[in-house]
Amino acid sequence: MLYSVNQLAQWASATMKGNGHLLIEKLVFDSRKTFTSDHTLFVAIKSINNDGHRYIGELYKKGIRAFIVEEEAYIDYSTYPEAGFIECKQSVRCLQAIAAAIRQTFHVPFIGITGSNGKTIVKEWLARLLTGRYKVGRSPRSFNSQLGVTLSIWMLEKDIDLALIEAGVSQPDEMRPLAECIKPDLGILTNFGRAHQENFSSMEQKLAEKLNLFETAHTIFCHGDDEFVYQSVNKRYPHKQIVSCGRSAHNTLRLLEQRSNQGSSVLQLSYKNECFAIDFPHQDRISVDNLLICACVALELGVPVKHIRIEAPQLTSIAMRLEQKEGINNCLLIDDGYNADLTALELGLDFLNQMGAKRGLSKTLILSDIYQSGMDDQALYKQIQLLAKEKGVEKLIGVGERLYTAMKGVNAYRSTSDFLSRVDVNSFENEAILLKGSRHFAFEKIAALLEQRRHKTQLEINLNALAHNVQHFRSKLNNSTRLLAMVKAFSYGTGAFEIANLLQHQKVDYLGVAFADEGIELRKAGITLPIIVMNPELASFSAMLEYELEPEIYSLQVLDAYLKAVERQGLTNVPVHIKVDTGMNRLGFLPSELQDLIERLQVAPQLKVKSVFSHLAGSDEAIHDGFTEKQITGFREACTFLENGLGYFVIKHILNSAGIERFPEAQMDMVRLGIGMYGVSAINDVALQQVNTLKSYVSQLKTVKAGATIGYSRKGTSTKERQIAIIPIGYADGYSRRLSNGVGQVLINGQRASIVGNICMDMCMADVTSIQVREGDEVQIFGTGISISELAERSETIPYEILTSISRRVKRVYVME
Ligand SMILES: *Cc1c(COP(=O)(O)O)cnc(C)c1O
Repeated sequence: MLYSVNQLAQWASATMKGNGHLLIEKLVFDSRKTFTSDHTLFVAIKSINNDGHRYIGELYKKGIRAFIVEEEAYIDYSTYPEAGFIECKQSVRCLQAIAAAIRQTFHVPFIGITGSNGKTIVKEWLARLLTGRYKVGRSPRSFNSQLGVTLSIWMLEKDIDLALIEAGVSQPDEMRPLAECIKPDLGILTNFGRAHQENFSSMEQKLAEKLNLFETAHTIFCHGDDEFVYQSVNKRYPHKQIVSCGRSAHNTLRLLEQRSNQGSSVLQLSYKNECFAIDFPHQDRISVDNLLICACVALELGVPVKHIRIEAPQLTSIAMRLEQKEGINNCLLIDDGYNADLTALELGLDFLNQMGAKRGLSKTLILSDIYQSGMDDQALYKQIQLLAKEKGVEKLIGVGERLYTAMKGVNAYRSTSDFLSRVDVNSFENEAILLKGSRHFAFEKIAALLEQRRHKTQLEINLNALAHNVQHFRSKLNNSTRLLAMVKAFSYGTGAFEIANLLQHQKVDYLGVAFADEGIELRKAGITLPIIVMNPELASFSAMLEYELEPEIYSLQVLDAYLKAVERQGLTNVPVHIKVDTGMNRLGFLPSELQDLIERLQVAPQLKVKSVFSHLAGSDEAIHDGFTEKQITGFREACTFLENGLGYFVIKHILNSAGIERFPEAQMDMVRLGIGMYGVSAINDVALQQVNTLKSYVSQLKTVKAGATIGYSRKGTSTKERQIAIIPIGYADGYSRRLSNGVGQVLINGQRASIVGNICMDMCMADVTSIQVREGDEVQIFGTGISISELAERSETIPYEILTSISRRVKRVYVME
């Protein structure tokens, strides 16, 4: 679909400036992800950390001609003679008005989905149950935000006969604009829980906000067993049809019985006097609830029971897994396990760009046939080619009969095995390669071929677990408390850009690094969050200003030197952070030095104190609690003194991870989260997830005779014959030599094996006499089986040192679901 800029402006009741005849097919928001210029409209959005209006000149040079801009940005339109601008008060609202107008061009049912959790699952599962009966259009992935909803509507194909649109809100007053866009005919309220409670004063308020979505709906689906939800829906919408599902008798779709075994279950259901059983590959309550509401909607829409019984067993988790690995010949492999359709392909290509661009690699796509696109092969191939070109893919390789035909055999293979047998592996070099294959093409075989296997010891970082832990810590805080995430030392050894990028998506407020170089690296990779540098070196001041890094000021000398750098560049209002020493006896102003500091700052309007902070010396240990309390009290006094002296509000923060867990009452205006993100807890919090897994493998098995010694210095003899596994990880990888001679243990095939002999630089040996092992088996050094804390204890150190000691030669693999 192409729309003229004029048409869009009219829909939004906005002012048209310049060329209104440009035709638009695609919306973009992120200048870094903008690769095409034809038929593309750039929406300039202001956020706390960035402003899209800044990139208009650059995008115009790239050939972009259409823009949505805000009045207040005062763009000088005469500098862009060929462009068309839609000028509005607020870009996001303007876009929503456009989406609302496009929505009105559809005359098929729209289903709006909201709730606290399960929105995406319910949407995906329901789409699956409806396929065959309806041509369903739906929001991609979990596009349910203010922007996500407009994009979802924009991307709907014209010939659908039903639309499923997700809407998510986390704050009051967010739903009405979404409801205006979606105008649902039917509404689904998925599980309603305590998530995102922080911004609402009560559960009632939160539910009322969500129910705003259903104003236009004639029918609402909800869980009837949730008394509070069911009553509220009925009270709010007494004249609408309410259809519920659940275990109790009044529900339209009832679960009579659930029998579970080995992860799956058989559900006995009744719907309008009809009883039937379905097989379902999950047994947990949330999944069953999600299935019930999907089945309920499908049945009401006329899908036969038989069809639901066939589809239900296929409703697997819709895990979306993108794995980034090192490939052969300096390639980067992105293994994308999400189902292959055009939207998913586009998202995969964005990830490819994000990860590949940083290293200046050229981009390659290896793609299998795509099913169920509704297009004929030639048209589909054309679409793929366009998309690939747009995302800067230089090399497209097709796998599968249909692509083979469409591509006339050029750069194409009939099947995965055809690829494996004919491809010249060394033709891949300095490329970022996206592997995207429908499941039965078994692209993991291609991944195995292209993967770098020089050093198989790897640190796997589960980005979902990391996001979960961040949210978990956030849930312990008041909603006004800001969150600073510490990403110093290569994010505790786990990776700089990848982690910061995730945290940016998780909307933390600040990042903290130890040195300016670390911050500069993040800026160069495109991180826009404010960043505090804890150890600013004098020599780095001008670079810090250039990259908008904010220093910790810990002495008058540093203050004066920084002030000079600021004056040289003629800047004002430059943010700084004051460190107060309340007992750590490391960097920081002593409370007695604050008066001098205030006097200096009073005559330095170039600087603005953004925050004041202190660091706890023993927040994780109960024996130091008295001291910790004293530090907190001393800090509060110092804060009052400083704020009074400066005469303005300053963000105050003292808690690190253990502090958040043990002294939440001292959270003040911000907290600094570090090791807790990785699941290390001072209170053994079981809700935290393990993020890091360090793995190696058995490179050789060896039988050694009784009395023989193992390795250097001839240690570790035994009176018995033993089987020894050689594992390619040593102290140069960060596996401490203190773990030698039985102190350390590793996990092989779920069983523990003790280290024998001394740990070498690149290898170690474990006694596997009593366990079943084959060469090539995976060895866990730490992870879900052996915690980082346990390893720290065994090697007489702390989890921090374990994590930050893992050397850079150990591959980092990022896993995302
Ligand atoms: C590293 C650091 C933190 C984070 O500490 P964790 O114990 O990892 O949570 C907080 N504040 C400062 C000043 C730090 O240097």
